[in-house]
Amino acid sequence: MSLLADLIASLDSGALKVVDLTQPLGPQTPVIGLPPMFASSPGVSIDVISRYDGKGPGWYWNTIRMGEHTGTHFDAPVHWITGKDLADNRCDTIPARRFVGPACVIDVTAEVAKNEDFLLMPDHVTAWEKQHGTIPRGAWVLLRTGWSKRTDPARFLNVKADGPHSPGFHRSTSELLAKDRDVLGVGVETVGTDAGQAGTFDPPFSNHATMHGNGKFGLASLCNLDQLPATGAVVIAAPLKIVDGSGSPLRVLAISPAPPDQPQRPAES
Ligand code: MN
Repeated sequence: MSLLADLIASLDSGALKVVDLTQPLGPQTPVIGLPPMFASSPGVSIDVISRYDGKGPGWYWNTIRMGEHTGTHFDAPVHWITGKDLADNRCDTIPARRFVGPACVIDVTAEVAKNEDFLLMPDHVTAWEKQHGTIPRGAWVLLRTGWSKRTDPARFLNVKADGPHSPGFHRSTSELLAKDRDVLGVGVETVGTDAGQAGTFDPPFSNHATMHGNGKFGLASLCNLDQLPATGAVVIAAPLKIVDGSGSPLRVLAISPAPPDQPQRPAES
């Protein structure tokens, strides 16, 4: 049991920290827009059941309503038609072990600052691997774009006359990660795991089509990726166990080494 005891001691000493990769979830949470011929997902609504009042004098609780794919959320393989017949493809049937994996953080903030339609290419992945090592099997690959700094919902969704513009993955990169690297899935700071313009790609939404067709997952609307090292953190991303669920809002946590430039705080006594 020393591994787990060491884990707790390291969290207490500050040698390891828990980084919350989750955006706040509420009525202000931006929701992806689809062309009008498709059904769209509602935003978040929260209604009080009682709050220490006549409806419940000693307690407070709410009813929540939202689409499964709202805010920081998980995409299960069954979300996409390419993954609809795979085994263990739903929120309630994915083995829990598959929610935990090492994080590989690919920082393309500078590229995205110059080009909001930036697509990660296989060359970017292999260049990253030259520096940090090959992406291990069962990793969460997190695309750090800086997009979560866009706190204004209009800038976050970035919809223009020809549709949304935001970074993502080229299809060939999704293929590389899903098939060759056998990752758990990809995580992004944007509203979905495909680029804003991916409705025009072949196939449309090629990251969803490729990842989910290969049984891989997605994490959308992450934040605080700038607090993670390129390698060395572990991500825990467990969706709600929704029966036949295609996805779920979730709390995404990373356990990460404290950055070397931040002095470790002494254990609290
Ligand atoms: Mn989704």
